[in-house]
Amino acid sequence: MSTDTSDWIREPLHADYGQGLKVEEVFYDSKTEHQRLRVFRNNTFGRILTLDDVVQTTEGDNFIYHEMLTHVPILAHGAAKRVLIIGGGDGGMAREVLKHQSVEHVTMVEIDAGVVEFSKEHLPTLSQGAFDDPRLNLVINDGALFMKETTDRFDVIIVDSTDPIGPGEVLFTDTFYGHAKRALTPGGILVTQNGVPFMQGDELTNTMRAFQALFADATCYMATIPTYAGGPMAFGWGTDSDARHVTLETLQTRFQAAKLTPDYYTPEVHQGAFALPGYVLKLMP
Ligand code: SAM
Repeated sequence: MSTDTSDWIREPLHADYGQGLKVEEVFYDSKTEHQRLRVFRNNTFGRILTLDDVVQTTEGDNFIYHEMLTHVPILAHGAAKRVLIIGGGDGGMAREVLKHQSVEHVTMVEIDAGVVEFSKEHLPTLSQGAFDDPRLNLVINDGALFMKETTDRFDVIIVDSTDPIGPGEVLFTDTFYGHAKRALTPGGILVTQNGVPFMQGDELTNTMRAFQALFADATCYMATIPTYAGGPMAFGWGTDSDARHVTLETLQTRFQAAKLTPDYYTPEVHQGAFALPGYVLKLMP
């Protein structure tokens, strides 16, 4: 076995645990004042985007994350016409939302125009043309500020944020969640990226505490995304409707009508994703 690790990166996200990824070919490597941005190819995951060696997204497994944060709330809702994405600069979330022909309008609020431009150029398979869809309204602004001020209302709100450090931190606050609830139509659904609870349990506990104070139905659902290492990822779920309990039959009917051909999502996976293991239930306040 080779002991040469010079062409590998080791993710420094956790103090004593981290995944390693072999770098086959570098497409972009730039050190800004704040962070090192890299796009490289790995044989298993295709192009990978890292910020300070922390994986943000990969061509190979982003479908799991994006399908589960879009098709689950949209198909559970059943009549979502207006969708709001907070973050989402790589375009993968818009790509999946716009596959729903029933969705008439998508507002996407991304703080960093550079992420959008960078992804269009270096990771075009992520957005697959979503930025050119006339149903998409791209707003460059802080998602927390937008949420505080907007008078628009949305059937589904998806928070596709970075981790709760730096600019993403405000997207994990009680104030932000309160404003998000106000921006939902009656029966609307809020879903959030909530980290890998085995490694980042506090993140889920804090969000769930806020959701329980705001929503009649506050929980999370899960999916395993290989490059978000450490176990399955949790997605926060908050709504005043009973959309979580939609029957499998109804989900199957909606899924067929939507004519989606996903690689991860199925109505059965949708229902099963809400079955939580004991260690995650214990993180619920
Ligand atoms: N899936 C990745 C993960 O789990 O690490 C993150 C996805 S990435 C599309 C998240 C996006 O959120 C980035 O483009 C970042 O610029 C954006 N973002 C961070 N803070 C934000 C804020 N306050 N308002 C709007 N967008 C923000």
